[in-house]
Amino acid sequence: MNLLYKSTRSNSEPVTASQAILKGLADDGGLYVPCNIPKLDKSLRELSKMTYQETAYEVMKLFFTDFTQEELKDCINKAYDTKFDTEAIAPLVTADGTYYLELFHGATIAFKDMALSILPHLLITSAKKNQVKNEIVILTATSGDTGKAALAGFADVKGTRIIVFYPKNGVSPIQEKQMVTQKGDNTFVVGITGNFDDAQTGVKQIFGDKALAEVMDKAGFQFSSANSINIGRLVPQVVYYVYAYAQLLGEGKLADGEQINVTVPTGNFGNILAAYFAKQMGVPIAKLICASNENKVLYDFFETGVYDKNREFVLTSSPSMDILISSNLERLVYITAGADAAKNDMLMKSLSAEGRYEITADMREKMADFYGGYATEQETAQTIHDLYEKTGYIIDTHTAVASAVLKKYQKATGDNTKTVLASTASPFKFTRSVMNAIDAKYDAMGDFELVDELSKLANVSVPKAIEEIRTAPVLHDTVCDKEEMKTVVMKSLGME
Ligand SMILES: *Cc1c(COP(=O)(O)O)cnc(C)c1O
Repeated sequence: MNLLYKSTRSNSEPVTASQAILKGLADDGGLYVPCNIPKLDKSLRELSKMTYQETAYEVMKLFFTDFTQEELKDCINKAYDTKFDTEAIAPLVTADGTYYLELFHGATIAFKDMALSILPHLLITSAKKNQVKNEIVILTATSGDTGKAALAGFADVKGTRIIVFYPKNGVSPIQEKQMVTQKGDNTFVVGITGNFDDAQTGVKQIFGDKALAEVMDKAGFQFSSANSINIGRLVPQVVYYVYAYAQLLGEGKLADGEQINVTVPTGNFGNILAAYFAKQMGVPIAKLICASNENKVLYDFFETGVYDKNREFVLTSSPSMDILISSNLERLVYITAGADAAKNDMLMKSLSAEGRYEITADMREKMADFYGGYATEQETAQTIHDLYEKTGYIIDTHTAVASAVLKKYQKATGDNTKTVLASTASPFKFTRSVMNAIDAKYDAMGDFELVDELSKLANVSVPKAIEEIRTAPVLHDTVCDKEEMKTVVMKSLGME
């Protein structure tokens, strides 16, 4: 049976998995949701004997039902290879009684790699299946992390090109260095004189330009997006929750059927939604603890049932979670509204018109598995400090938000269920904040000096992703005004 995907905003014709991956967003602006969430057809015991790649196949085959076994295995093997610095791909580390699921062993040492390593392969396979002859041009605006992870994923993937726009003066020096040193003949990195919103707006305009799309089509190109709302990013994230549970079971750390809690540092709500999908598939998960930083829209939402983005935007030390509109929450809203697209559409219209919406008591009840918490900057830094002092294990700022929230949750509820905590970035990616949390004296040091110091303290060698950019030559130096973005795109494709 083919699993089909519906839009969250209208009762338009459902599409296949490969069509949903190709389109990214539905024409009505909705997100694609599978008509039902499939159940695992192997026991967790059986899965506990499998590698990451084998587990990935067992999960993805149930969602991407129009891919052949060969196609899917080919995508998986190309994605989860030696780009990752450990065979486990997503290893579990126990510290202070919590299982940290390290999702940062890929090319850019953050969790976006888990999905962006496979998305390019899913995309070109989907293009082939749907007789798309054009080359796929990925267009992305980035505030830092997504851009690099997308570049790394798409670099040298045949049949694709990728163009990334970033605010020239709006990303960290390390983030900029990571992007402008990107190898691959099909990669283009462009700084714009403007902020992230300008970059994002420019990209949206290019996507919406019908005349340009026609010219592109004649030249053999079409645009696509690597945005986190693509179902081709969500499903690969379900895999590591299944894998984590199975590993713990296999190691005897869990008994058959024993429930766990999952804690996730949350921004766009993709990662924690994947954990919810894993639960629906049959992984024994009790609570899904959604951790926010001081941008605590989601905490307030789970407390009150009101989503309200009308508030001050706070810049924190966990920038990948500095988000006021969590796009993937729409999928949960739709599901808990009983797959009622009209109801969801009304709420989303209210979000764009007034910046807020309120869900019903019935929907809140269906979200009871979620628990919202947040951590202040101070609590986050303290958590990094204390965990290091107690165990020697060093976590990044995003992971620390989750760790702080978990502690507060356990204290408030007395619930000491074993917990898997999604560790979303390597501490080497946010070295300065991490080292300052351990001791203020480190603030006087230079960026790479801090990297070496962290390596000593953590007793972990410097990741390849960091080592490489120390000496790598700059390969991209284009800078343009926001008005010139379209011209730059055409030039990059050799079609002025
Ligand atoms: C993107 C990101 C998050 C947030 O994940 P969502 O799926 O958007 O909720 C958390 N931590 C890091 C390091 C990230 O890059």
